[in-house]
Amino acid sequence: MSRRLPLLLVHGGAGLRELTALQADCLTQALVDGYAKLRSGGAAIDAVEAAVRVLEASGLFNAGLGSNRQLDGVQRMDASIMEGRDLRAGAVASIEGVLHPIAAARHVMDETAHVLVVGEEATKFAKHLGLAAPSRRGQRQIGPSQHRVLRPSAKKTWQLYREMQQSGHLRWAALGKETVGAVALDRSGTVAAGASTGGVDIMLPGRVGDSPLIGCGVYADNHSGAVSMTGLGECIIRIGVAKELCDRLETGASPAAAARAVLQKLVSRVRGSAGLIVLTPDGRFAIRHTTPRMAAGYWNGKGKPVVTDRFK
Ligand code: ASP
Repeated sequence: MSRRLPLLLVHGGAGLRELTALQADCLTQALVDGYAKLRSGGAAIDAVEAAVRVLEASGLFNAGLGSNRQLDGVQRMDASIMEGRDLRAGAVASIEGVLHPIAAARHVMDETAHVLVVGEEATKFAKHLGLAAPSRRGQRQIGPSQHRVLRPSAKKTWQLYREMQQSGHLRWAALGKETVGAVALDRSGTVAAGASTGGVDIMLPGRVGDSPLIGCGVYADNHSGAVSMTGLGECIIRIGVAKELCDRLETGASPAAAARAVLQKLVSRVRGSAGLIVLTPDGRFAIRHTTPRMAAGYWNGKGKPVVTDRFK
């Protein structure tokens, strides 16, 4: 697949489920809002953030408002964002009570000298910046106060986890979730990538996946391309998929060939399961998945945005 500048791709997770009409509309809206930034000459990173915000606020995906709960009943979210001109990146992990973890990741990138801020401190940082305040920027408060939180003892949580692990539920369940992400290419030829997630179906409190880890869940480099991953984070991390994919692009592989090779490696080396969106600075792109379905779409501003849940 090949497109001219600028270009935006979004995804709503790789798994088993069919895309619903509401989710399809939401992915289309994410493409429209994100592309509006690119059309007016804005930066790829702004398009990525705008698109991911739409998906986080929808409650229809496993990110932001719709995030999964960990086994103690708490939503802890991960997100990251990266731009390919100067390799700047920001990320948050295990953040709570924030509607837009992608915005918190952006703040880490823009306003600190760090790349990754985690846990309670990430939550405090985001709240300090007003990200959780319902009255500012139209954001709603989410987190424990909104729902019944079970907060079982650590012993009970551990027992539950072990039972699920032994029954094999863990691995299978992780295939069905709907993390979100975006990659963009702007008029200047800069690429950017972002991801936001509530994790997998069954997870210990404090579990962190690939999405906030630069080089695993996302990567963006103007010398190669931009990648956003979805799938079982424990496997994606061990291969370092996003960086490996960009390395393959840099040595001349096409997006489709590089994606195929790295996904094959993921399956054969660690029995992983994943999907990805990738684009290059010259406007080529690919959407690939090892799962039965992957909710995703793309738009170059002409015709209508394309959104579907199967890309092979
Ligand atoms: N990669 C995410 C994680 O492992 C989950 C997903 O993409 O479905 O946290």
